[in-house]
Amino acid sequence: MKTVLITGASRGIGRACALAFAREGYAVAACWHKNEAAARSLLDELSALGCDAELYRADVADPASVEAMAAAAEKRFGHIDALVNNAGIAQQKLFTDLTAADWDRMLSVNAGGVFHTCRCVLPGMLRRHSGRIVNISSIWGISGASCEVHYSASKAAVIGFTRALAQEVGPSGVTVNCVAPGVIDTEMNANLSPETLAALCGETPLCRIGSPEEVADAVVFLCGGKARFITGQVLKVDGGFLGG
Ligand code: NAP
Repeated sequence: MKTVLITGASRGIGRACALAFAREGYAVAACWHKNEAAARSLLDELSALGCDAELYRADVADPASVEAMAAAAEKRFGHIDALVNNAGIAQQKLFTDLTAADWDRMLSVNAGGVFHTCRCVLPGMLRRHSGRIVNISSIWGISGASCEVHYSASKAAVIGFTRALAQEVGPSGVTVNCVAPGVIDTEMNANLSPETLAALCGETPLCRIGSPEEVADAVVFLCGGKARFITGQVLKVDGGFLGG
């Protein structure tokens, strides 16, 4: 049985990924950070699907915490076949209001988290000459977004990281890709006003925002056999928002 480790699995896109992988027959190592109740309810849902699943608490910005999670998951499941680096935070602020602490936290969770998790999980994939890594970036990491300079920079870093690592580990049988979601219906966007949401829908060729399940479908595809010749790519799941 294949095992996937998903960070930020307690809510939103990560949760939808956990359920989608479970339906594909994967065992699921689900990482959560602060929301234990949501993580426990995910575990119940996974178990109801007959999925072999385990929860791990970790702050992806903290290397020691990630090392402990990865070691525990590898011990429990024997191997990790797919890694989904999904955990992330967002914040809207004028650039002139950003503090050094805002910048440091954003970069250490959104970009540092991807680095720490890959550093711990990749060696096992290299040993087995097989593995799939999918990093969740954002369309703002491609285009940049006003009042989200630190978020956009962190997500652009994830794209550069993905392209570089894909080149380095391709010869070892490991693929590394990015999914760049557009505006997705999760708690991350709970602060958007109805007017802002309507404007975003209006700018989207498919005339709506996306669902976490639609992002999860792309992630599962990139981890599956049908994506075996795809690496170093950034797949936008944005209803056409950014265009070609
Ligand atoms: P969300 O609903 O806010 O969920 C965020 C998840 O990340 C939660 O499971 C949370 O865990 C976890 N997390 C946050 N900080 C963490 C940390 N330091 N260590 C470990 N886990 C942490 O967000 P989402 O909308 O699903 O977003 C998921 C990913 O997609 C993020 O990387 C985000 O940037 C990206 N994305 C989202 C959108 C969108 O429109 N929603 C668009 C583009 C990209 P706890 O709840 O347990 O604390």
